[in-house]
Amino acid sequence: MPQATKILSSIDATFRGALLRPDDEGYDAARRLYNETVDKRPGLIAYATGVADVVAAVNAAREEGVALAVRSCGYSTPGTSVCDDGIVIDLSRLTSVHVDPVAKVVRTQPGVTVAMLDRETQVFGLAVPSGVLNCGIAGLALGGGLGWVRRKFGLTSDNLISAQVVTAAGEVITASKDENADLFWALRGGGGNFGIVTSFELQAHEVGPDVHMTVVNYRVDDAKEALRYYDQWCDSAPDEVSSFLIMATVPEGDFFAMPPELAGDPDVMFGAVGIGSIEAAEQATLPLRAWGDKDAYDIGGTLSYTDSQQFFSGEYETEGLRHYWSSVFLPELTDEAIDVLADYHLRRPSEYTTIDLWHLGGAVARGDEASSTFAHRDAKYMLCIEGNWEGADADVANIEFCRELHAAMRKFAVGEYLNFPGLFERGTQATRTTFGDKFARLLEVKEKYDPKNLFALTHHPLLES
Ligand SMILES: Cc1cc2nc3c(=O)[nH]c(=O)nc-3n(C[C@H](O)[C@H](O)[C@H](O)COP(=O)(O)OP(=O)(O)OC[C@H]3O[C@@H](n4cnc5c(N)ncnc54)[C@H](O)[C@@H]3O)c2cc1C
Repeated sequence: MPQATKILSSIDATFRGALLRPDDEGYDAARRLYNETVDKRPGLIAYATGVADVVAAVNAAREEGVALAVRSCGYSTPGTSVCDDGIVIDLSRLTSVHVDPVAKVVRTQPGVTVAMLDRETQVFGLAVPSGVLNCGIAGLALGGGLGWVRRKFGLTSDNLISAQVVTAAGEVITASKDENADLFWALRGGGGNFGIVTSFELQAHEVGPDVHMTVVNYRVDDAKEALRYYDQWCDSAPDEVSSFLIMATVPEGDFFAMPPELAGDPDVMFGAVGIGSIEAAEQATLPLRAWGDKDAYDIGGTLSYTDSQQFFSGEYETEGLRHYWSSVFLPELTDEAIDVLADYHLRRPSEYTTIDLWHLGGAVARGDEASSTFAHRDAKYMLCIEGNWEGADADVANIEFCRELHAAMRKFAVGEYLNFPGLFERGTQATRTTFGDKFARLLEVKEKYDPKNLFALTHHPLLES
């Protein structure tokens, strides 16, 4: 495969945005992603100023036969939005958001983050379902998108109305339920396999301006009781409340810290956001805040929707952390699964590593299986194994821990949330298992829009590369 450096002169004539090569100042910062374990050296980083630049980059990569990585906001933990040698088409400078408050429809460019989108939509008292902290809207809309209003309004991808797409042939087309409907279906959960999305049209909903947020930490050695308690509470949680249980370590410092003498101890956190009536949300989440007489640190209350969306983001912007995130969907929480989780909770090799149980149900479960590729929406929980640590010398121990726990949980699982895909160690097996009956149809769409697998670098690989 020729190196992208050899084709720089051809793209220079057709590209308007900045082009960064390995010898250019700022190249090392520009090739970095959110995850410090990702260390790839692209031949060219091309900052698009608009759709024409995206077409130019796609044409250059296809004609010259070099790898192409698509980067919107760079939150890919496995590092698919950067590549060795090839071209990274970077969309992070495309950040416009237009809100139609009457139709409650939002049009965004791909460089928009959750924080940017909320800032604009909340001016009109609206929100698009997104994530529980800051990351890229593009990856959420294409891969699923599980956030704080999921049980009321569904996934980000459920709220995708249309997308403008640059295909592998360099054509610009629209995908919606009326135009290129096969592509539209595939984009809603099938990830970056089929083209580069240059704008997203999304449905917004009335949310806020204030919401109720529960954040209560309990110091516990044995998480089994907490897991059972949470499982029962979830059965009667209203759709207005979306929540998770996090198995973590009592943190040091003043961020939701428990008494300092407990820092470093095992901890279980219940986190929830309730929209609509604040009083009703407070009432519904009271049991989470009143779990027995355990050591607790309760900092829940009423806050703005935008603040609730960013509540945990500070922790996640810590420079220099290394990550390995994987997941499974669980139809139920059996006693056997609880035993495994409680055991691994006490064996986490890093104090930053968490084991997170996200309650699904509500609008996620009610969403139409047939109209999108997002699979296993009827699972009760998504379990996220969130390996976070410092220092390359700790990579092996931390990745091994995550892999072991993932393997131990797979027997209780029905599929995986592919935006938390580990490092693709099982090739397309996870994609096949997760998409199940939909896999063959996805391959047909792939064959139609990207027959040569130009968009191979994705969280949702359909073909072995
Ligand atoms: C700190 C953090 C918090 C997160 N929180 C949540 C959360 O609350 N809920 C949740 O559901 N997920 C969450 N995620 C996972 C997140 O959904 C994915 O990492 C997602 O891919 C990030 O989007 P991005 O645009 O930043 O991705 P990028 O790193 O820019 O891209 C990742 C991949 O997405 C595809 N892609 C990106 N942009 C485009 C485009 N415009 N057109 C076509 N394909 C494209 C490409 O295949 C690319 O390789 C989180 C991740 C992190 C690191």
